[in-house]
Formats: sequence, structure tokens, C-alpha cells
Amino acid sequence: MHCPSSARFLAIQEIRRRQDRIVPHLSGPGVKPISSIFGESTFNARVMQEKLPKNVCQKLEATIRRGQPLDRSIADVVAHAVKEWAMEKGATHFCHWFQPMTGLTAEKHDSFLSFDENGDPIEHFSGSQLIQSEPDASSFPSGGMRTTFEARGYTAWDSSSPIFVMDGPNGRTMCVPSVFISYHGEALDKKTPLLRSMRALNDAALKMLRVFGNTTAVRVVPTVGPEQEYFLIDRAFQTLRPDLLLCGRTLIGARPPKGQQLEDHYFGSIKSRVQAFVQELEHELYKLGIPVKTRHNEVAPSQFESAPIFEEANVAADHNQILMELMRQIARRHDFAVLLHEKPFDGINGTGKHNNWSLMDSNNRNLLDPGKSPSENLQFLVFLMATVRAVHHRALVLRASIASSGNDHRLGANEAPPAIISVYLGDQLTRILDSIERNMHEAQETDERLIRLGLSNLPDVSQDYTDRNRTSPFAFTGNKFEFRAVGSSASIAFPITVLNTAVAESLNHLREAIEAGREKGTSFEQAVMGVVRSTISETKAIRFEGNNYAAEWVEEAARRGLPNLTRTPEALAQLLLPESAEMFVNTGVLTHEELHARYHVYLERYLKDIDIEVDTLIDMARTQVLPAAIEHQSLLAQSIDAVNRVKGTAPAAQTALLDACVEEIGRLHERTEGLENLVKTLSGVEEKERAHRYAYEVAPAMRSLRESCDHLEEIVTDSLWPLPKYPEMLFIS
Ligand code: ADP
Ligand code: MG
Repeated sequence: MHCPSSARFLAIQEIRRRQDRIVPHLSGPGVKPISSIFGESTFNARVMQEKLPKNVCQKLEATIRRGQPLDRSIADVVAHAVKEWAMEKGATHFCHWFQPMTGLTAEKHDSFLSFDENGDPIEHFSGSQLIQSEPDASSFPSGGMRTTFEARGYTAWDSSSPIFVMDGPNGRTMCVPSVFISYHGEALDKKTPLLRSMRALNDAALKMLRVFGNTTAVRVVPTVGPEQEYFLIDRAFQTLRPDLLLCGRTLIGARPPKGQQLEDHYFGSIKSRVQAFVQELEHELYKLGIPVKTRHNEVAPSQFESAPIFEEANVAADHNQILMELMRQIARRHDFAVLLHEKPFDGINGTGKHNNWSLMDSNNRNLLDPGKSPSENLQFLVFLMATVRAVHHRALVLRASIASSGNDHRLGANEAPPAIISVYLGDQLTRILDSIERNMHEAQETDERLIRLGLSNLPDVSQDYTDRNRTSPFAFTGNKFEFRAVGSSASIAFPITVLNTAVAESLNHLREAIEAGREKGTSFEQAVMGVVRSTISETKAIRFEGNNYAAEWVEEAARRGLPNLTRTPEALAQLLLPESAEMFVNTGVLTHEELHARYHVYLERYLKDIDIEVDTLIDMARTQVLPAAIEHQSLLAQSIDAVNRVKGTAPAAQTALLDACVEEIGRLHERTEGLENLVKTLSGVEEKERAHRYAYEVAPAMRSLRESCDHLEEIVTDSLWPLPKYPEMLFIS
């Protein structure tokens, strides 16, 4: 069927050959136990103890535990030890590795090369180089912050995330996880606010624990396990599709006759070519101390998931960035392209990143794990309700935190949670909360009564989640919440920052209410239950146990007054509300300026994404779709002509084919021009207004141009079609 010389045909042939020559890239995985390589490329606690004098090691460990800046007096000793260790691992260079607001990671490498007093070359790395660096960072987005203040940006070591050595094709580099801040200390990155939110949450949670009489915990951290979904297709296909290359998603492409209807991919056996990629990826991740645990096929064809064992939020965020980066790199070695976009294929499930989130104290107790006694469960209820209140109170900011052009295609598309934020708690907790709420006037809060409320057997809660609601954007799953609306390509830092901050704020609110109750002379249990009860009533609207994909939920949510912000521009606008700023400012997580800067960076990113998509789509329509369609049209015309000559009449069925083609080409042309003109007229429009019109005018115009392209794909001779088609990309690997 294929024209034997077309690039598309050759690609398919080549890919078929690749299937038969899967090269094992490694001798390691599956041979060596994971524990023997885990973390070997990181400067972890064990290496620290080995390489540092005892007193220095203790100081460094204390710094890390308390999240404080490094004591300058030990910086040189630590730097020397780190350098020696990195050189043993083969590193010749070092970099401060940071996360600018692009959502990607950035690094500027410097070699260890220096000269001693005799002019001889040596390797040198100083304490100040470890602590701070000044990259020429003027090209990173700052949302206008550096123009207001100072052009320079600094990176500073975040000692809570381990230093690691990264392999390169011809050498190794030591990476120092860092924050990126302006001359005056404003956050220019994703990590700084995350660290600040962890501090706010730590303070709020510790104070709450003290109220419950806990005097032993010295620290509370949010734990996060981000489940990363992705598509894997052969790289040859990506090379032939400008949309995949430039935008990460297909802008056109007719739906395949076979999609995911058969549901034969989910948890199916992993093909060996994919397996080879995953095994090499995991091997590299283990060396970097990234605890990937679970791998499986996802619902859509060619879609997969990798989930780690949870870690402290900050480390989890770093590790997820490394995971995404290594996926891209290692996929290339296997002639795969990894697609992290939220919606690479229209009509096929999109991709998300479920963020499992909980709180853990320094005694390794999960604060969202129900306890064994009614009083432990009282504390559990308070942390639970603080989280529910946070989501209720800050739903708008949470929605803003997951907004992106990619996620707009996914949220609310009956495959991902809707853009409406709600919380799912499960049957058992719902029953308990309902009965607490119903007993509004019960005065006594004895253990007996708590038992009657069901608070004695909460440990069973986890069993309630075996058959759970997978449609909820924010679901309780036994001992953690799962924030499911985060996009697959997104850095988890901002969504987690917002969640941490909102929960810190609510914990403080609940604690103050409990203390106020106590001051009025009520018993501890009564004071706590009073606050729990009023929080249950106050936040009722956010709780939803039903099917979030159902159309009725959209109506029901509207009745409840829950916002349904389906597009990025309106979601981002929530960051500008004074009450949103109040949360960030009061908790010390972001200043007004920093928040506004973020809004601008995200909005600009949205506009740029769509600008690139529009240019790419127009280009493909003009230079790939149109020529193929015209060639097909002329084949039809020639054939009708020939038939005419022989038979003396043009058969109606054949002229109908030609008419359909001519018409669609006309529409294609018209829509291409229309889209181009629309974007031109919007070019001078103010950002916010332009973003709104991109969402409500440009996006539909792109869709209608796509429809023409897709219709042509269905009628144009297959051998003339230049672009790899959906079935090929999704089923050939
Ligand atoms: P599922 O697909 O059923 O949601 P997975 O096993 O794929 O489950 O993922 C569960 C994720 O939740 C894992 O990344 C796991 O580490 C994480 N997780 C488990 N407990 C916690 C916790 N206390 N805090 C944060 N994440 C957690
Ligand atoms: Mg999962």
C-alpha cells in the first residue's frame, strides 16, 4: 500500500527491523541486586559519614535536617570531600543544578581545573563554589522581577537534596541541587517556594502536634510519590512529524479504527523493546538514588507508568525532574521518543501525574494514617479536616497550580478529573464525618462516644480503598491523598507548594480555633470535636463521592457554587486575587511580587505554547496536507478524465469523490487563512485579553482546521500521505 520510497514507509520498515534487534545496553540490571547499586552516584548519608570528619558530618546532617543554610566554617571541608568523592566517580566538572520557572532544569558546568602557586594544573573546588554560584541567567523567565530589581541571579546549594554525579556520553558531572534567587533574594525558580512551603507546613504541623501533647516530634515533612505516565513511540515517527517534534503533541491525525476500546494494553505484558528501555532507565535511576518501584502499561496503547517509593516533597520534586530528563535521554538510545505532553493523541487517553501526598513526622509517623485508639484518631481527624479545608478554601489556587495549555486538553475530558476541584473521602470516612456533623448538639466527647462515632476502628479505613473512585481530582486513599489533576509534563513543585501552603494555613486556623475553645474552658476533646464538626459543615461543598466524569456533576457543582475553570487563562487569573496573595504572603511562601511574576511567566508560557502550535499547524496544513490532497485530487481528476474518454460519461460516484476532495481542499485553505489572520489580529492585544481569546477563539479555529486535515487524511491515497498515522505510531514499536 505504501509508496516504497516515502519517508513514512521507510520508517516503518526500519522500525520493524528494530524489533528484531533489541540490544541489551547493560550488563547490570537484573544481574546485580538493586540494593548494591542504589544511590552509588549520590553523596548520601553513608558517604558523608565515610568522607567527613565526625564533627563536620554532624553539623552537615543537622543543617540538612533543619533545612538551614550551610555553616560557612565547614563549607571548605565539605567541598573538598565532595570533590574527592566526585572525582573518584569520574567527574571532571561541577554545576549548580536548578529549576527555573520554565519547568525544566538548568545547569552551567565548570571544570574543577585550577592552577596551584607553581602554575601546575590541579583540581579545586571551594566552599564558596559549593554554597553559591552566579550563572549568567538573564535569559530565564523572571516574570519581570529582574528588570524591577537586579539582572543577576544566584544559585545556592539546597543541602536537603543530595549532590549527585550525572553520566554524560564522554564524561561525568557533579550536580549540586540548588535554589535560584535574585540579588535581593526573590525566588526565580520552582524550588525556593517549595522549600518555603515545607517550612510553613512544618511549623504549622508541629504546633498542632504540640496541642495534642506530642513533645517528641521535631520535624514534619510532606511526603510525595508522583506516578509518572508517558507515551513511548518510535523516534522515526517523531522525526517525520513537526507537531510532535516542536509541540510534543499531534496537532492533526485521524483517529484509528482501533484505539483503546479493547482495553488490552492496561497492565498487559510489556513488550521487550519497551522493557529494554525501562530497565536501562531504572538502572540509571537507581544509581542516582531514585527509588522507582512500579512499572506497568497504562490504559492507552503505547502508554506507560513509572511510580517511585515516596520521598520528602523537595527530593521527590528533584527526582521527578531527573526522571523526566533521563527518560528523554535514554529513550533516544533505544530509538524511542518519550512523549510527556498531557494530550499527545486526540481521542486517546491523555497523560497525568498523580501526586500522592501525606505528612510524616520525625518519628516516621504518617499523620494521615488513622491510629489505633480514639484519641489518636482525633488527631488524624484534625489533619484530615485541615487538608479538606485547605482544598475547599484554596480550590482556586490549586486549580491555578495545575494550569497549562497541555492540561487544558485533558481536564474534564472523561479520562482525567474535571477542572472542578473536589475531594473524595470514601464510604467509611464519609459516614463518620456525617455522623459527627449530625450530632451537632452532643455535649460530651468521651472515649465512649468517639467509639460510637466509629472513631475506634479507623485502622480499617485502608481496606475501604481497594475499589476506589478514580475519577476524583483529590482522593483520600487510606493513608494519603492523591492529587490527580497534575499534568504529566509539569514540574510537581508548584502544585505541591500550593498544597503545602494551603494545608499549613488551615492547620493554623484549626489550631487557633481549638485553642480559643480551650480558653473558654471546654475540655480538650470537646474543643477539638467542636472544631472538627464546624469544619465538616463548612467544607461540605467540596466533598464529592460520585462519578466526577458525569455531566450531572458539572451541574451539581455549579449548584454548590464550586468553580469550574476549564481554561488556563481563567485558572491563572486566580493567582491575582487579593485573597490568593494573602495565603502566600501570610505564610511567607511568596511575596506579592513573586506571585505576580509567576502569573506572568505562566501566562506567557501559555501564549508561547499556542503560538508555536499555531505556526506548526499552519505550516503542516500548507506544506504537507495540502500538497498531498492536491496530488490526490489530480489523480481523481485524471482518472475521471480517462473514464470519460473511454465511456463518454463521467460516473456520478467518481465525480462525487472528486467533489468531496475539492470541497475539503477549499475548506482547508479557508481555515488556514482564517487561523493565520486571527492570530495576526491578536498580536498587538494585551496579554491577558489575548490569552482569553486564544482559549476561546484560536483554539476552536485550530480544531476546525484540524478537522479538515483529518478528513483529508481519511480520503487521500495512503501512499501519498506524508505523516505517520495514529495506528502506526500507537501500535508499531
Ligand atoms: P495506584 O496506581 O494504585 O495509585 P501506585 O502503587 O501506582 O498506586 O502508586 C502509589 C504511590 O503512592 C507510590 O508512589 C507510593 O510511594 C505513594 N505513597 C504511598 N504512601 C505514601 C505517603 N505516605 N506519602 C506520599 N506518597 C505515598
Ligand atoms: Mg498508579
